[in-house]
Parts: sequence; C-alpha cells; structure tokens
Amino acid sequence: TSESVKFVYDFTEGNKDLKDLLGGKGANLAEMTNLGLPVPPGFTITTEACKTYLDSGEEPVELRDEVSAHLDALEKKMGKKLGQADDPLLVSVRSGAKFSMPGMMDTVLNIGLSDKSVTGLAKQSGDDRFAWDSYRRLIQMFGKTVLGVDGDLFEDALEKTKETKKVAVDTDLEAADLKKLVTKFKKIVKTEAGRDFPQDPREQMDLAIRSVFESWNTDRAKLYRRQERIPGDLGTAVNICSMVFGNLGPDSGTGVAFTRDPASGHQGVYGDYLQNAQGEDVVAGIRNTVPLADLEQIDKKSYDQLMQIMETLETHYKDLCDIEFTIERGQLWMLQTRVGKRTAGAAFRIATQLVDQGLIDEAEALQRVNGAQLAQLMFPRFDEGASVEQLGRGIAASPGAAVGKAVFDSYTAIKWSRSGEKVILIRRETNPDDLDGMIAAEGILTSRGGKTSHAAVVARGMGKTCVCGAEDLEVDTKRRRMTVGDTVVEEGDVVSIDGSTGKVYLGEVPVVPSPVVEYFEGRMHAGADDADELVAAVHRIMAYADRVRRLRVRANADNAEDALRARRFGAQGIGLCRTEHMFLGERREMVERLILADADGEREDALKELLPLQKQDFVELFEAMDGLPVTVRLLDPPLHEFLPDITELSVRVALAESRKDANENDLRLLQAVHRLHEQNPMLGLRGVRLGLVIPGLFTMQVRAIAEAAAERKTAKGDPRAEIMIPLVGTVQELEIVREEAEQVIAEVVETTGVDLKLALGTMIELPRAALTADQIAEAAEFFSFGTNDLTQTVWGFSRDDVEASFFTAYLEKGIFGVSPFETIDKDGVGKLVRDAVAAGRATRPDLKLGVCGEHGGDPESVHFFHEVGLDYVSCSPFRIPVARLEAGRAAS
Ligand code: PEP
Ligand code: MG
Repeated sequence: TSESVKFVYDFTEGNKDLKDLLGGKGANLAEMTNLGLPVPPGFTITTEACKTYLDSGEEPVELRDEVSAHLDALEKKMGKKLGQADDPLLVSVRSGAKFSMPGMMDTVLNIGLSDKSVTGLAKQSGDDRFAWDSYRRLIQMFGKTVLGVDGDLFEDALEKTKETKKVAVDTDLEAADLKKLVTKFKKIVKTEAGRDFPQDPREQMDLAIRSVFESWNTDRAKLYRRQERIPGDLGTAVNICSMVFGNLGPDSGTGVAFTRDPASGHQGVYGDYLQNAQGEDVVAGIRNTVPLADLEQIDKKSYDQLMQIMETLETHYKDLCDIEFTIERGQLWMLQTRVGKRTAGAAFRIATQLVDQGLIDEAEALQRVNGAQLAQLMFPRFDEGASVEQLGRGIAASPGAAVGKAVFDSYTAIKWSRSGEKVILIRRETNPDDLDGMIAAEGILTSRGGKTSHAAVVARGMGKTCVCGAEDLEVDTKRRRMTVGDTVVEEGDVVSIDGSTGKVYLGEVPVVPSPVVEYFEGRMHAGADDADELVAAVHRIMAYADRVRRLRVRANADNAEDALRARRFGAQGIGLCRTEHMFLGERREMVERLILADADGEREDALKELLPLQKQDFVELFEAMDGLPVTVRLLDPPLHEFLPDITELSVRVALAESRKDANENDLRLLQAVHRLHEQNPMLGLRGVRLGLVIPGLFTMQVRAIAEAAAERKTAKGDPRAEIMIPLVGTVQELEIVREEAEQVIAEVVETTGVDLKLALGTMIELPRAALTADQIAEAAEFFSFGTNDLTQTVWGFSRDDVEASFFTAYLEKGIFGVSPFETIDKDGVGKLVRDAVAAGRATRPDLKLGVCGEHGGDPESVHFFHEVGLDYVSCSPFRIPVARLEAGRAAS
C-alpha cells in the first residue's frame, strides 16, 4: 500500500516547528499541550488539506475519515459526543495560518448546539441563560461566516431585543429573551441563506471547516497578505478545539495577555480581562475590560497559575509571547499562544533584555530585530514643548507621530489619501473591513479597545501610528465628527496623534528628531531614562552587527555636509558621488555656454571656468571623507536637463519675436534645445556617451578630481578618490575614456609633483555591460552596479513613470509583491548581477564590487548582495544604519 498523507494531527502529535503544516495557532497549541499546560483537547487539519481544497474545490477524499477518527478519539477523551442531546460536546472551529492574520479569517464557536442539545447544555451547566446565549451566538456566527448572511441583521435583532427589554448590555437579557432571539435568528438564516440552520452537528462542523478554507481567499485576507508580503499559496490550517466557556457567570471570563509589555519590553503584567464573556468580546472591545492585574482580586488561584504559565512560556519560547486564555468556573484554560508582535523599540529592548537574562545569545538577538524596525525608530517625533491643545489621551498602541485631517470612515480615508491628503482614520473601534482605510491613513485613532484590540494589533503589524481606547473622545461616525468635552472636531480638521505616548492633539504638532537619530548623530549617549534605554539597546545590537558583517557600507553623497553625516552614521566611504548637482544653480550659465559653444575655443573657455569650481567641490568632499574611498562618477544625465524647458523657451522666443526684440542668445539656446531634444532621453545622449561626444568634458572632471586629490595630499590629507564611468555598454567606450583619463592624471602628477593613485572603474547598469562583464573588467578596477538603470533596462520599465502609472495594478494583480525598483528582482536583474560578479572576478580576481542603486539600502536586497559576494553596498546617508544592521543579519 502506498504511504498516505496525514491531513489531521491531534494536539498531542504536533509541535511549534510545524507551522507550515499546522499553522501558527495549531503548532503552538500542540507545543503547549506537550508542555503539560492546560489546553482543551482538540486536533488540527493541515494547510495541505486546505491547499487541496483551494486547488480542486473539494476536500481531499481521505479527510472525512481522518476527521471522524480524531473526532471519535476526542469524544472518548471528553466522555461525550459532539452535539449529544443530553450532554453535548461543543467545539470551536478556528482558522490558523502560518503567519498570523488577525481577524482576517473565520472562526465559529459553539459548534454542536442544536434545538435538542441546547436543553442538554442548559441542564448540564445548570444555566439556561448561558445555554441559549451560546446557541444564539452559534447561529449568529455560523450565519454570518459560513452562510454569508449580513451580520448587521443579527446585530439589529439583538439591539431591538435589548431596547424592548430596556437593558443596556447583552448580559442583562434573560434565558427567555435569548430563546426568542434564537427563533428570530433562525428565521433570518432561513430567509437570507435560503436554507435552515443545520441541526446535524457534524454537518455544522464540516461546513465550518470548509468555510475556514474558503476564508483564505477573501478580498480582505488577500489585501492583508499583500501588505504584509505573506505568500498567497500557503493556505490555512483549521483547529477543532473542545469548547471551554468564559461566559458561565462571574467566576468565568476570558482574557488576553503579553508576557511583557509589547511597547516597552518591560516585564510585568500586561493584558485585559473580561468577566463572564467569550473570546471575541475582548478583542472586539464590546464591553470594557479590566486590567489583567485585577484578576488577582477576582480569582487568585487562576491568576497565580497564569503567571506561572507565562513564565514557563517565556523561558520555553525565549521570547515575548502573547496568549489568549479562558477561565471556566475557576478552571484556567490556554486557548492560544504565539511569539507576540511588538513595537520597533520593544524589539530592540527585548532582544538585549533576553541576552542579559541569558535566554539568547547576541547572534540570536540580531535576528530578533530588522532594518525596517530600525528605520521606524529613526522617524521624527512630536515636539513635547509645542503649545498645541491636547484633546485627550488614549493607549499608545503603535509608535510614531502622525498628523492629518480627521476622517471617520475608511471610504473617505481612501478617497482623500488618493487625492494627496494626509488623513487620520478615527473610529470607535476598527474591524477587518477597515483595513483599506487603515492602510490609506497616516495614523489610526480609536475611542475603544485596548492594546490587543484589532486597531492596535493590525497597526503594529503595519508599522503604522495608532492610539486606541481614547475614551474621552465621543466618536460619531454618522455625523462625521467627534466631541471631546466642549470641543467638536469635524471631518477635515487637522489632528495629531502620538503613538508613543497616546496623546491626541487638535491641530498640527511640530516634530523633532528621534533619539535614535540623535544617537547616530553623536548627540546622545546611553544613560538611564526610557529613550536612553532604547538607545543603549540599539547601540549594542549595531555594535554586534558591525562586528559580524562582511559587507562594507558606503554612502551616496555629493557634498561635504552629507558626507559628514554619512560618516557619523557609520559610512565607510562614498560609493556614489553624482557630479551633476555640481552643474546646477549659478553654474548653469557656464554649462549653457559649454553646450552652445560652436568653436573649440569657446568650449574650452567654458570648461576652464568650471574646472576650479569642480576642483573645490572635490577638495571639500575628500576632506570630509579623509582616509576613506570616494567614488566620483563623471557626468551622467543628458545635457538637455541643464537647459531651459523647450515649451517655455519656445513661448518666450515667439513672444520676443512678435515684439521684434528676440535676443540672439535665446535663439541659439532654442536651437540647441531642439538639437538636443530626444524622445527617450534616458536611452539617449548621457553617461559615457556624453564624455565621448563633448570633447574635454570628462577630462575636465578628471583633472578636477586629480588636482583636488593632489591638493589634499599636499595638505597631509589622505584622499582616496576613485573615478567611475557611467552607462558603459561595451569595453571600447571605457578604454577610450580610460586612456584620456590616465593621460590627464599623468599630467597632474607631473605638474604638481604629487604621486597619485586613482582607481578607474565603471558602473554596470546596462544589460550589455553585465553580459560582457568579463571584457569590461579588463579595463575596470572596480564595478558598481547601478541597479536603478539596470532594473529600468532589464524590465524595459521607465523608472520615472511606471510607479505612478501601472505599478498599482501590477501589485494588485500580484505580478510582483513589491516594486522591483525598491527590492532587487533576484531572478532577473539579480541574475545579471550574480553572473557579472563571477565573470568580472574571473578576469580580474581583485576587482572591487559594489552597488549604488537604491537597492543598496533596502533590507531584503542587502541580503542578496551579501549572498552574491559584493564588497560593499552604497545608499543614502539615512539608510546607512539600516544597511549596517541588515549586512550584519545577513552574515550571522
Ligand atoms: C543607478 O542607475 O542605479 C544609479 C545609481 O545611477 P543613477 O540613479 O544616478 O542613474
Ligand atoms: Mg544610473
């Protein structure tokens, strides 16, 4: 017989490393079960079963029998049968993918209740009210998620019952009311779904399982995955877990907790507890929770046990965990745990705290943080001293400083942000339908819910600023406004929210630099207060990353100021100095003269004027980067970029002509503009082509570099200039420029008497250059991959246009998960890089290799460049710390 696949695992069979197969929830339930923690028995249907269902539209044939076998075993263990009339076993059917997708997919509780078993449950529990409440919850949840009935219909019916009974909360409804409500709910199901609510418990379970499979592909789940870059083909597991009840009276309840503060990393008791309630009540923020610490008064025994379990989990997982638990009549049950999400600052703090506790080593600490988190910590913050009206204060749920116009629904958030407005999405509480609006907003503000509410969890995941549970705010979404005391904030009024303090302000609060940036700038050192604790953690982790990384990190900088900042941020040289900025401003006129020159003499005069200015630029740059390499790239952009706009100039000349006072220079300028006009300037006269066509241009630049280096050497400096030729497609181009450059350098050595060693290399930014890298390396001492142009030319995407035109559609269709201009396209562009590295080194083993396209500062790309064996990455000064960190992570 052939070995058959196993589609169902009992909780006793799995473990935490089986997330691919059992999903995060299932794997961790199994892990807890095997740790001997109180987990209600159950089993998990694998992601493989889900994938089969999604591919073929049918459950795998073996699934039914496997589920039956596991259900049998579960029933034996529990001593009762699913939906048994006199004493029913009830189960929850919960989704659980490999990566957590909070609230995105389906869950159905209380499966097994029916018209018959509801009385059995009432008898067994001795609580009529509880039994009917559980039944109405089942019909409501099942109706909405499995049968697709509009959830508002149930909510409205519930509201109406409360109104009729004149009660404020659902716990005040009596068994008889709930019984009537059940009849109403069943009617709603019948009319809306065109079928009766299924009375057969197994049918309930099978339909719920199928609906969890299908929930993998809802629009909002897809959107969330795209946002979080979760692959779309993983599928979800399904957990069938015997029910325990938090809604059995005041000695029951349910809660969520963190083993340490997910915002600061500090150890303590963090969580929310809700008496007499079922799981979803806490997360949805329906009734007000109490702080977890209060549980000590409410139920000391369970509290102590919970503290013990939390410690066990932290030591076992060696990380911050979040948990969901339920207390049923004084008996504690663990319903979920996982390594918890945390703020960027907490990630750094926790990583170092765990090192200090001896739970992990430094190499592991480095893996616990990432460049995106570091980048987030470098965002500016609100100026505490600013005099702006504070509206209120909520819970600091996800850090950052966000300013924007108040909007009260997701639709407006999206609409306004599309037209370029910055908005703050304000809601009483959010739910998964708000996801698009949350993505569109600068920040999210809610008046209800705690650190574990939907808004908080999702915002933290997206790295978006969020303040939640700001209870002083009366949010009125219907009238699109909120009131705080006497202040009314209308849609469109500017508000500022601080996700690090929870403060909410009316108007725009000025921002100040982050302490982490102050630290990198050398203006702040590790001390004792809260910000310093963060700085100390960053300092330690950066030091470790620097110790282990192989890649060097350079900066893209073209003036002394940027160079100095880059140095403070840890740059080990300049990987790209774009000389074109040196041709702008007041020098533009000289450049015009250069372009307009008819005779050699005129051109030489123009170049002679530019030479000392260029030289001075380089002197300053070499001084700022003294002792470190500075790669200066010769002029790259097409000349027309330095000339007036063609339409503007045409109009000016035409007007002047009609007034009969056209000026000679404007006419020549217009001619030149026409002459240089190109349909495809990015593929036109630029880079090395310019140097070959405009006599004296590149040699002037080389002379300026050489003379500047000579001057610095004479001044006892240590200039390490490297000359880089852009947009080379064939070695012949490079050879010509090289010969001329060498001659100029020799002349400068001769006249100054200073010995100069200037490396000459090229950018690899055209496919042909990459493909002929072996030949090009004959004439180049270094390569720097220009992955901006290389991406543009490999894909045939205009780097200046596509992001605004069709990339959104491409991203939506999943053609790529992220723009190839942002993260290197490993399979295409990356393949050329990899091959060119090998070919270049084959020709010249000591060839120096780097990258200076935007990808040099992108975390994922840095890992790729490490892997293909580059010597350095070069990026903008602000991304240098991120690149250092990721280079360290790649190497460890
Ligand atoms: C590149 O093309 O990747 C590059 C660094 O050069 P530029 O962006 O200046 O074209
Ligand atoms: Mg380029």
